[in-house]
Amino acid sequence: MINQERLIKTFMELVQIDSPSGEETAMAQHVSGVLEKLGAKVDVDEYGNVIGKFEGVGEAIMINSHLDTVEPGRGIKPKIDGEKIVSDGTTILGGDAKAGVAAILEALTSLRESGAKHVPIEVVFTLSEEIGLLGAVHLDYSKITAKHGVTFDGEKSVNYITTSAPGYTRVDVTVIGRSAHAGLEPEKGISAIKIAAEIISMLQIGRIDHETTANIGLIEGGSAVNAVPERVLFKAEIRSRDIQKLEKHTEHFQSVFEEIRKKYPEAKIEVVSHREFDPYVFEKNHPVIQQTTAVLKDMGLTPILEPSGGGTDVNIFHTHGIQAICVGIADYSAHTKREYILIPELLDTAKFCEKLLSSI
Ligand SMILES: [Zn+2]
Repeated sequence: MINQERLIKTFMELVQIDSPSGEETAMAQHVSGVLEKLGAKVDVDEYGNVIGKFEGVGEAIMINSHLDTVEPGRGIKPKIDGEKIVSDGTTILGGDAKAGVAAILEALTSLRESGAKHVPIEVVFTLSEEIGLLGAVHLDYSKITAKHGVTFDGEKSVNYITTSAPGYTRVDVTVIGRSAHAGLEPEKGISAIKIAAEIISMLQIGRIDHETTANIGLIEGGSAVNAVPERVLFKAEIRSRDIQKLEKHTEHFQSVFEEIRKKYPEAKIEVVSHREFDPYVFEKNHPVIQQTTAVLKDMGLTPILEPSGGGTDVNIFHTHGIQAICVGIADYSAHTKREYILIPELLDTAKFCEKLLSSI
């Protein structure tokens, strides 16, 4: 049976192992040890992702969460505050996604105790999710046989199911003009700031439609107030749940760059555009959704199917043919020092995981 005390203890232990993105070795070793004790065949791929396999009956399922956290995430001191678990206010809590990891480990522990029948389980704990889904990108997919899965990394309670997420294109732009003394010979210069401003004023950003957004989130340039600026760098992103719209908006960006290149032939506009991941959309009657909603209903919970505005490891799994969804892990205000976990909902997440694995 899912044991609340043990679940909380596991969660507290996990968040006290520092694992900011890129520094997850201690955390990966810890969870590998736990999985081994639970009887899993544990494998670590070349990137460092942890894969734990349990034999079972029926169709294999992948259960996933990520091991890294954002900053400030070192020396986390979790404490229980009524029904919540919070940090001491100087760091994040690390519930994203260690609440997911803890729920998975508790479900596996409970299954082992009860000896209940379950499907073949492939636990995948990825690294560096927070810095561009890198663990999922570099995961050794030859080690995974499951064709469907559940990722424990969503906001709110476990009955919140993400059924679609946008694809994502990054666009980095460097404008190179020519520097000159601003007072003595400005006519010899080409202002990179002015050109960048012109480009940016022409780019459509913000909400483009109900499933498409674009943003310019970073800009830097110039060297001194009395110099015509030679160089400006700005970074943009485009997201859409419709791949054609994602492509179309990327083309709009490119056409603006082209127009400005023609207008300022002496300037250079260098563009690095990269599709980081594709969008995915589930139909309501997809077997993975049906199975998940059936388990939730069985628990007396109302499944709430929602599109997401952000990407998770799920986006990458889909490009590798693994039909995965993302469920909530009882984590709130993630990526802030106000982050907290709701204990009763964390318990539900663990119960859901156990029920899902044993529903053959
Ligand atoms: Zn996360």
